Amino acid sequence: MAKEIESGDLRALLVRSPRRTVSLQVNPDLSLLMKAPSDTPEPFLRDFLERRRAWVERHLERMARIKASAPTWEHGGRLPFLGGELELVVEPGSRARARLAGKAVVVTARDPSDAEDVRKAVERLYAREAAERLPVMVDACLARVARRRFPRPELRVRTMRSRWGSCDAKAGVITLNARLLRFRLEVIECVIMHELAHFKYRKHGPRFYGLLEELCPEYESLQAELAEVYLE
Ligand SMILES: [Zn+2]
Repeated sequence: MAKEIESGDLRALLVRSPRRTVSLQVNPDLSLLMKAPSDTPEPFLRDFLERRRAWVERHLERMARIKASAPTWEHGGRLPFLGGELELVVEPGSRARARLAGKAVVVTARDPSDAEDVRKAVERLYAREAAERLPVMVDACLARVARRRFPRPELRVRTMRSRWGSCDAKAGVITLNARLLRFRLEVIECVIMHELAHFKYRKHGPRFYGLLEELCPEYESLQAELAEVYLE
């Protein structure tokens, strides 16, 4: 059975291996994982956990907040869209389909209580909207920094789990996450500027961030907003 290390109300799953240091991580499901060398005594590990209590509590709080911000995919739910909110209206229908109607997203689904069906229909709607809107935003960004003479990228839009964008500078391709439409325009443009900057510098080094600061002076706070959203 898996071993656990406990200190007060903190409890971490313990994984031992031939490593040299102890590490602690907070998982997205709010559980704790401790990795430790094979021979580190348990009292030391308990102490290690206790000494990181403030750090653990900060992370648990942040992750709980991020999870709470995730859409609920049910009738009456709220969906973030371009800095505002849309109301989710779910109606019975012959097939799962979502459309924009003013300040609402109307979804028809065979079973309106099937959150997974509703989610997929909404994601397809966001993907369609993103395919229409993101190219316009890329053009606006390019025009604003025309003096930099970035190549016009081939833009691909995909619904992705773990990243907001990527740039294949060699192929001249920028890929953007359709879920960016959950954010206000300033945040989306900052992601676009970030990917454009990769045409000059591939790695996230000081020169890259120097250029990004020129393209998007508020990039630090704007990128921080991206980290506050839960991607399931
Ligand atoms: Zn990057």
